Amino acid sequence: MTFPRVKGPKNGICNICGEAGPLTEDHVPPKGVTRFPRMALHNLVGSLGAEPGERGKPRHFQQGVKFRTTCLSCNRDLLGSQYDKALINLSNDVSRYLFSQLDRPSVAHFNTQPGLVAKAVCGHILSVGVGHFPRGEMGDVLADFVLDPAASAPEELRIYYWVYPYWDQILVRAMSMLPRFGAPPVVVSLMKYMPLAFLVAWKPDPILKFPYPNLINYMPSDAFRYADIPLDFTIIPPHRYPEMPTNEGVALHGRDAFRATRIIN
Ligand SMILES: [Zn+2]
Repeated sequence: MTFPRVKGPKNGICNICGEAGPLTEDHVPPKGVTRFPRMALHNLVGSLGAEPGERGKPRHFQQGVKFRTTCLSCNRDLLGSQYDKALINLSNDVSRYLFSQLDRPSVAHFNTQPGLVAKAVCGHILSVGVGHFPRGEMGDVLADFVLDPAASAPEELRIYYWVYPYWDQILVRAMSMLPRFGAPPVVVSLMKYMPLAFLVAWKPDPILKFPYPNLINYMPSDAFRYADIPLDFTIIPPHRYPEMPTNEGVALHGRDAFRATRIIN
């Protein structure tokens, strides 16, 4: 089991825009949602099912998990300045709601900028993993969506989300998922952290039905506009969904699949 790879060269090709130049460290998830900054990052495949010993060597972070894979312009001017605030505010609103003592209805609504949240999620997924240019077909679609703040969502992009009330974080750039034996495989990316999980899918077969809301459906044509999005507290999948294989389905991980755990002491 190898050390998780998180650092591209000092000078290299940006995972998002493909320009050559100095590479900077992108926090995934963005810094404002990290409550426990000290994290240990594990390769997902060695980590799943190996608790609490955790096989393989983790990589330790003092200020949240970071990947040195993006240029300053994508990292700071695009994600940091234009998109992250919407994702951070939504995450913190949902956390506050989860930790409040209110009686919760089965579905709550949160006012947010769904377009900016979607672009932030796609941007951070692109920065997961070292040396991902060329980006591949799904990467190209995500990058076009992220690089133009005004771009509307590509037709076949889905960003499903649900409540994730766990402290470990899952970051997967691309995995192949067979939701059921006999069903067509779908390539998905994951970003899961307290309090939300996002599953990004590109062109899933229409016979695959995900029971979670799709953020793209709530995105106004103007990416900066606010809208209410639902969060359904009655549909919370198991902790390890979908990265852990089950009796019903299979998950195949590429090299860029990680799990981060809190360092308590
Ligand atoms: Zn860039």
